[in-house]
Amino acid sequence: MNPDFSSASAPTSASLRQAYAACPLCESTDIARLRSDACHTHPLWHPELGETLDWMHCQGCEHVFSRHYWGPRGFELLFSRANEGQVAGGDLDRLRHTWAPVVERVGRQLASAPWLSDLVWLDVGCGNGGLVMTADEYGFIAMGLDVREQAVQRLQALGYRAAQGDLDRLEVSDPVAVLSMADVLEHMPYPRQALRRARAALAQDGLLYLSCPNLDAASWRAMTAQGHNPYWAELEHFHNFSRATLMRLLVEEGFMPVDYTVSPRYKSCMEVLARRV
Ligand SMILES: [Zn+2]
Repeated sequence: MNPDFSSASAPTSASLRQAYAACPLCESTDIARLRSDACHTHPLWHPELGETLDWMHCQGCEHVFSRHYWGPRGFELLFSRANEGQVAGGDLDRLRHTWAPVVERVGRQLASAPWLSDLVWLDVGCGNGGLVMTADEYGFIAMGLDVREQAVQRLQALGYRAAQGDLDRLEVSDPVAVLSMADVLEHMPYPRQALRRARAALAQDGLLYLSCPNLDAASWRAMTAQGHNPYWAELEHFHNFSRATLMRLLVEEGFMPVDYTVSPRYKSCMEVLARRV
């Protein structure tokens, strides 16, 4: 698998942020402001990013999303402050224990053991590298992608495969068996396009692993009711999916969800496995 990043779609303007003209999932213009939240307490906040986040609700498909998504200048400000949790290092046994259930769940959906058939696992947004290291341990040919140079270098220093880049500019020479996006989709301005990219990189019957917060979860509802739901101040998220909106999106983009579970890694998070059809 040879990732190739063309520069053809690289952004050219230096704008801070752009407003969604319509719902990013269904393109309905029947959208209304749901709420506004202060975001200056976020660890990646910068005065240039503004004091509040507006959250919108689509009357057409029920999707909840931010009024704006960051342009090149906004992303530059956010990525300039990658924290230690987003690069490899620290307690690696803790990371192995965290990711082993995910790798095992994927393994149960496969026809053969990964080490018998050289199955490639591509982890998009690999961050601290825990999923790449654990998939490698279970016999996958695991590879991480991340926009952060530091995250890629730390994985490579431990002898793992990693490349700098993002899904928008990814081309693969050979389709991969597993593509994971752990806590990634909610960061992408247009998730439908991201899923199309993921599908194009996956082999027929390949598996997509996704995790993201679920705004229908009991803990989400309780945090919101008590006025301390941190996701409403999350500068890096543009989308708040429910299980229903995520599953529908997957089906519309050519995936069959085959597994759902509660994610133990973050508050209110869900994990979905879907097969490319
Ligand atoms: Zn919509």
